[in-house]
Amino acid sequence: MSGNKTFTIIKPDAFRASYTGPIIEIIEHAGFSIKNMRLVEMDNKMASRFYSVHKERPFFSRLCKYMCSGPIIVIELEKENAVSDFRKLIGSTNPEEAEEGTIRKKYASSIEANAIHGSDSDENAQIEIDFFFKN
Ligand code: UDP
Ligand code: MG
Repeated sequence: MSGNKTFTIIKPDAFRASYTGPIIEIIEHAGFSIKNMRLVEMDNKMASRFYSVHKERPFFSRLCKYMCSGPIIVIELEKENAVSDFRKLIGSTNPEEAEEGTIRKKYASSIEANAIHGSDSDENAQIEIDFFFKN
């Protein structure tokens, strides 16, 4: 059975471009409710821990640097079938391949600076929610 929680980050490029409002509007309009939200500025250590699954990938150090380049908005979301519905709403990692109408198609500028994060499984959603919201 699929869970009802997911986790998202409005990434530094989108925050900097003042897309936070429009992106949250799309998310709420799609039926997700906000359970918890805050503004965070990650340091390299925190970004490396968050993206530790990607530590062997060639883009890892650039990705961590980018995620620390400015404030981000972290949000816990709730909806039936949350993880998979949210991945559909944000679109493919590479905005050039993202479907029309998705958040990444609208607001992402590159495969790295792709505006938004979405958890990829129920298990990771809970891990990511705890990462930012469990004191
Ligand atoms: N990323 C990157 N280069 C790549 C692939 C991914 O810079 O070739 C970045 C991008 O910001 C992406 C994040 O690393 O969102 C995590 O990658 P993942 O494969 O988990 O993509 P996502 O789940 O975010 O779609
Ligand atoms: Mg991922």
